Amino acid sequence: MSGDAANGQAVLDLSHLRGGEAPRNHDARTIAALTANPGCARRGVMDAAGVDKDAVARRLGFAAPFGQSQFAITRGNAFEAQVKADGCAELLALLRDRLGLEIPEVSYDDLESVGTESREVRHARTRHLMARALETGEGTLFDHPLLRLDIAGQRAYLEPDVIAFQLGGRFHVVEVKSFAVVDGQAEPEQVAAAARQSAVYVLALRELVADLGHDPERVSHEVFLVCPENFSNRPTATPLDVRPQLATVRRQLDRLTRADDIARQLPEGCTFALDENLPEAVRAVEARYAPECMASCEMALFCRDEARACGATGTLGRNVRDELGGVDSLVTALELARGVREPSEDMAETAEQLRLAARLRREALAAAPTPPAPARPAAAPLVGGQARSADVLERTA
Ligand code: SF4
Repeated sequence: MSGDAANGQAVLDLSHLRGGEAPRNHDARTIAALTANPGCARRGVMDAAGVDKDAVARRLGFAAPFGQSQFAITRGNAFEAQVKADGCAELLALLRDRLGLEIPEVSYDDLESVGTESREVRHARTRHLMARALETGEGTLFDHPLLRLDIAGQRAYLEPDVIAFQLGGRFHVVEVKSFAVVDGQAEPEQVAAAARQSAVYVLALRELVADLGHDPERVSHEVFLVCPENFSNRPTATPLDVRPQLATVRRQLDRLTRADDIARQLPEGCTFALDENLPEAVRAVEARYAPECMASCEMALFCRDEARACGATGTLGRNVRDELGGVDSLVTALELARGVREPSEDMAETAEQLRLAARLRREALAAAPTPPAPARPAAAPLVGGQARSADVLERTA
């Protein structure tokens, strides 16, 4: 039932929950996505068990168009090939000239050249080169290192399109992305996603370094993000501090190791096998849907349908749900706002705020010139989040 994770913690094996289905391997993208909704028990337990959520969603009739478009993948591959051509010549020029790094001499090891051999062989080669670099300082650029991370008992191999770059005895992750940096600015969501993925690589690289008997801090929290600049194919590099993302990923991975608590509460014999019992099994685990799930989880269409059917506050957005702390249903929130439901002790404060917001809203509407404008009433900002939530709720009702 349990084994040892690379970080020395006992981890669980929930593979029986797959009901005999093949495990779904994690990659940095899926591991980074774990951090997008850390409070969701459904996702937590399915990921911990290595359940193929895409297959589950399809079986449930809620297949989600998920993942990168073919166009984005092709563009990304072309840009990466350009940056890495001739032993990363363009990348080195960038790091030297743009960031002013003093890189005296360079060697380049492409670990993909280990070719079609098994992942274990490629990982062993990565270990060997990293061990040599840590002992002797030999080696500058390690392309396509094959890293490993234990995810709740599942051994995940991570094949980054990144380079581990050694400078002054410390390693940095270099992540190549194809989204554009225009006038020094990029889409914050894309940068955040790249930072989360890089943090996963930093974590895996640190585990490897620790496993080789060295200080994991020799892998820097500063990564270099390489993107096309100003609608051209010319690359630009930006240093990125991923400490916040590292803390989040670590916290979420620790949380996954406690997914056995959730699993223990499942009905006897419950599995996520792709059979007629699947809907019941999925519904047996609590979800925490928010619109943000649409960009990060294969189960999003199913969970959205379920959340709408039961009137969950999360359907209005994570902010509304958080502001309504503890009030999970829209019906309950409206009843509290109208004063027709007696709040429990833990809902008393939220109920008071909702009643205040509802009163201000009524007064604002009464004072508004006729006919009242369809736009949001002026009272909303007066009492902050709850007023906005009440306004959204009333308009939703
Ligand atoms: S889509 Fe469903 S399973 Fe996935 S994170 Fe959101 S609520 Fe959880």
